[in-house]
Amino acid sequence: MGLRFYNTLTRRVEDFVPLREGEVRLYTCGPTVYDFAHIGNFRTYLWEDLLRRHLEFRGFRVVQVMNLTDVDDKTIANALAAGLKLEEYTRRYVDAFFEDLDVLGIERAEHYPRATEHVGEMVDLVTRLRQTGHLYESHGSLYFKIDTFPGYGRLANIDPAAAADHARIDSDEYDKENPRDFAVWKARKDDEPYWDTPLGAGRPGWHVECSAMSMKYLGETFDIHTGGVDNIFPHHENEIAQSEAATGKPFVRYWLHAAHLIVDGEKMSKSRGNVYTLRDLRARGFNPREIRYLLLSVHYRKPLNFTFEALAQSRAALTRLDDLAFRIERQPPSAGSDPALRASLAEARAGILESLDADLNTAGAMGHLFDAVREAHSSLDAGRAGSEEVAAVRDLLALFERVFGMRLGQEEILDAEVEDLIRRRTEARARREYAEADRIRDLLGARGIVLEDTPQGIRWKRALGAGTRTGPQGA
Ligand code: AMP
Ligand code: ZN
Repeated sequence: MGLRFYNTLTRRVEDFVPLREGEVRLYTCGPTVYDFAHIGNFRTYLWEDLLRRHLEFRGFRVVQVMNLTDVDDKTIANALAAGLKLEEYTRRYVDAFFEDLDVLGIERAEHYPRATEHVGEMVDLVTRLRQTGHLYESHGSLYFKIDTFPGYGRLANIDPAAAADHARIDSDEYDKENPRDFAVWKARKDDEPYWDTPLGAGRPGWHVECSAMSMKYLGETFDIHTGGVDNIFPHHENEIAQSEAATGKPFVRYWLHAAHLIVDGEKMSKSRGNVYTLRDLRARGFNPREIRYLLLSVHYRKPLNFTFEALAQSRAALTRLDDLAFRIERQPPSAGSDPALRASLAEARAGILESLDADLNTAGAMGHLFDAVREAHSSLDAGRAGSEEVAAVRDLLALFERVFGMRLGQEEILDAEVEDLIRRRTEARARREYAEADRIRDLLGARGIVLEDTPQGIRWKRALGAGTRTGPQGA
């Protein structure tokens, strides 16, 4: 079976067939650059990165667009409050966003269009809608009349007739239950930034930004459009209405949406103080790879409950993968062979790819991976794995590295991880498992950590390069 996705529009899992053979045109709603992105945003961006990587692995050329919303109600309000020009205010968060992408190993999209640099395209789109009778004006603003578009409500599965009383909505975000005519062009107001255009002085509404920028870079009909579930209504519903009303063509073929990340079972919110950025987690001693692992470990259509415990489990899972990566590089293969291991590795590889093909089931893929990792460790323990098996283990880990976007066995080791391994080694020695204790010492050694047994306990230092320093006492 080939690649298939759950399509929000049809509420079914569908076979994926791109419009142009071998190419996937993908639009991913990007950040509103009014603050640092939080780990919920990164859940969505990381899943989109996995989507991209898996499509590439399956041989497609991907053309991805991610917009930067650098003008909307929120960016304007915050810039005004900070006493900065819009561009000055958003620049800091645009820079931070790209830094975070790199830190997390997220592949770059082909295009990152900024809303403020595409006002001309937005004006063109609004002009088309106006000429075809989909808009009306009120106090210099232009509103999309939703009952001129019969398909309105299809994506979000809501009945527009129930609430189509022509109440106008000026805010970019509104009540998720009630469809209303929405602003595509907002008249100049007070000291807000504005553009002088044939539509009058004003600025675009948020929804029209994505319609104009996606069609500019991907064409009037393209393959996949993604975002978090909060984007379904009204944002994506309105994108469809504006785009299809203007072009008369289907806008997007597959709509994919990620469920939200929550923290300790609760919605993230400033008032609860549980909104974490990537920077917050790094300051607490977690490395980007651990964060990446956790955020990818749950299937994207299931809510992800973020806890520090789960982050610690991700660290342990990665250590197990690193252990195997180090082992196959350092432990000489046996002269014999282990056909059973070879079969498990082949099964795992097929299982991983089949899980990802099935609507990107990352949790299933990781399950297959760890089955094989367990078998590989025990084969190596027993001295059975020969050079053919070692090569197959290497291939399997490389597959994981490529599609999940994580390097194994090479990441800079954090103090907290060193402490953790030293504690495991001490425990192993207490249980008289000396082989395990030596293995952990070697593992640390391979990552440049030197242990010294002193009468005061275990001390460690980094042996690589100029940064040699002495760590705290081991347990
Ligand atoms: P925003 O910057 O608010 O426009 O959001 C950027 C992207 O992050 C959008 O695709 C949102 O749907 C997504 N998003 C926002 N909050 C969360 C969350 N808690 N979990 C997952 N994705 C989210
Ligand atoms: Zn968007």
